[in-house]
Amino acid sequence: MGNKPVLTDIDQLPVVEEFFSLQGEGFHTGKAAYFIRLGGCDIGCNWCDSRFSWNPDIHPVIETKTIVDRVIDSGADSVVITGGEPLMWNLDFLCNGLKNNNISTFMETSGAYPLSGKWDWICLSPKKNMPPLIEMCKIADELKVIIQDKYDFAWAEKYYGMVNNTCKLFLQPEWSRFDAIIPDIVEYIKKNPNWRISLQVHKYMHIP
Ligand code: SF4
Repeated sequence: MGNKPVLTDIDQLPVVEEFFSLQGEGFHTGKAAYFIRLGGCDIGCNWCDSRFSWNPDIHPVIETKTIVDRVIDSGADSVVITGGEPLMWNLDFLCNGLKNNNISTFMETSGAYPLSGKWDWICLSPKKNMPPLIEMCKIADELKVIIQDKYDFAWAEKYYGMVNNTCKLFLQPEWSRFDAIIPDIVEYIKKNPNWRISLQVHKYMHIP
């Protein structure tokens, strides 16, 4: 693991951006949710489209209560915590604040760090640079593997073997390789129908 940044108080979190939109990927595609992108990630995927989130020091540190109040004001009934790698932080305070207000909690994580917080849905997206912890695989509700080339199918199957048998399975084309890789994904899913495709439909709708 890399160097975990330190905040002096865990009821504060570095927030890169937050917005009310529709989920664009995976099992909950199309569902309205309030997104909170936390700063900080030391995983370093070469195709990362959120590099601006990597350094937590350049983003405002916000009181958890303020974050929760903003969600309530938005009218959203669910929140997606993403990053960066959100589990670089202790998310107990944030989840408690959301749950106390009957807001459902969804998280997108690489699974490379131990769990904190209470979650209604955990989407595990394993990354080769820093593979997920076994305990994170076992509690994932959804496994979403980014497919960049044909070798990634074996990587996906490896983690299929580590998640529980109710976990939803998705293959998602890496955006910059979409045209090159989509035929392979289609053929793969035809032969392996336990998988489904995940497309980043928010990008087609030009919404965040
Ligand atoms: Fe980017 Fe996510 Fe990989 Fe971190 S884990 S480098 S935020 S794609």
